Amino acid sequence: MRVLKFGGTSVGIPANAEQALRLVRERAGEDLVVVVSALSGVTNQLVEFARGGAPREAIVAQLNMRHVEHAHALGVPERVVTPLLDALRDEIAGAAADAPLSAADRDRVAAYGERLAAELFAAALTARGTPARAVLAGEAGLVTNDAFGQATPLPEAAATIARALGERRPLPVVTGFLGRTLDGRTTTLGRGGSDYSAAILGAALGAEEIQIWTDTSGMLSADPRIVPEARPVPRLSFAEASELAYFGARVLHPKTLLPAMERGIPVRVLNTARPDDPGTLITATAEPEPRGWRAKSIASKQGVTAVTIASTRMLLAHGFLARVFEVFGRHRIDVDLVTTSEVSISVTVDDTSRLPAVVSELEGIGHVDVKEGLAVVAVVGEGAPTQVGLAGHVFTLLGGVGVTVEMISQGASRVNLSFVVTASEAAKVVRLLHRGLGLDAEQVPAAMPASGRPLDTLAGAT
Ligand code: ADP
Ligand code: ASP
Ligand code: MG
Repeated sequence: MRVLKFGGTSVGIPANAEQALRLVRERAGEDLVVVVSALSGVTNQLVEFARGGAPREAIVAQLNMRHVEHAHALGVPERVVTPLLDALRDEIAGAAADAPLSAADRDRVAAYGERLAAELFAAALTARGTPARAVLAGEAGLVTNDAFGQATPLPEAAATIARALGERRPLPVVTGFLGRTLDGRTTTLGRGGSDYSAAILGAALGAEEIQIWTDTSGMLSADPRIVPEARPVPRLSFAEASELAYFGARVLHPKTLLPAMERGIPVRVLNTARPDDPGTLITATAEPEPRGWRAKSIASKQGVTAVTIASTRMLLAHGFLARVFEVFGRHRIDVDLVTTSEVSISVTVDDTSRLPAVVSELEGIGHVDVKEGLAVVAVVGEGAPTQVGLAGHVFTLLGGVGVTVEMISQGASRVNLSFVVTASEAAKVVRLLHRGLGLDAEQVPAAMPASGRPLDTLAGAT
């Protein structure tokens, strides 16, 4: 069986939605499960509703119009969406004016986007002669813990999903992004989490392939909003794709590859509007990269903070690193990059909400310095960090345009050379490296020239 996941622009723009419906119908004879995201932009509006920052009446009115118009565009009756839209309106009365909702209420409200999208997609399929049914993730057996906003599937989820989705006629159209606690409360898996939903379902059902249908022709050599000439990367390993997703390639939710990796299920990223493009195939082993340079793609992540703990006295003493990481661990802050010197250790973190408490504890261990406004840039390709000359070439290019590198980490995974720069310089760095490493080249360069591309040919790259 296969899982086909359609993202927000694939289901949310009528022309793309028609294309997505056609793609499913062409495969209707196969054993499928479809996963859908909310129509593009809808989750943002629901998050706004939950925050209470904007008038809730106005948000509900806009969401009403959008979904009713979409129903008309797809030729399905309004009554497919009106019960859910009425329920959403009722949420206004249950919320204290202007006050943010609780975490559990936030997830219940955020869920309307995927619920509406699944009803619309299933009804449109049925109307076109392919019987389908909308299935809430919870009904599909996707049980999670109660970490609202960032829920994790429970160990028994694989079994409950396999049971709940054992019967796949009529075709299940499952809500992405959502889960349910054992006591029946709706959870969400984190923003962009529908990709993760597809992978969880695919792994539980032993899929032969998980397909992520989106608005780019695969995972590209860089974020196309930063590098318009970025090109699709035909093959990636799970490790490479995970690093890219983790370091900012939004096209895949960072956790997507975990369930696929565990079960060895290939993941394909495809373009709904251009279904004949080959897209990107992600599997356990990387195809040897034909480029001499070996880097395949560059990602960048904004909103990074570096924390440096300096202690002349203690760094080399055994147990020092353990003490530092124990503090981050206890406050449940994920650490991304780590570099050490003889007298200091620097780490980067994304989430600064609990940082003040961490800093005050770390001050008991050494002198602490916090630097905000940074970005991580990750140059990804199996073997890239150990490729002779790659690091030298990267940092020569950066030096040539006067970019200061704050931290460098040659990912232990051997697939990622990452470093930290000032946030405002990240886009320029990605563009420079994309060109400088030949990722924009139509023809695969035979090998990296000893000196790389002359810097003066890169003048336009920034
Ligand atoms: P969907 O709604 O289908 O889930 P997303 O908007 O979540 O789509 O992800 C697709 C977007 O991810 C692309 O339109 C692109 O702007 C962005 N993106 C960032 N990095 C990459 C990359 N390396 N390859 C492809 N897309 C990327
Ligand atoms: N609709 C959700 C979001 O916008 C999940 C997703 O798109 O994958 O975050
Ligand atoms: Mg997405």
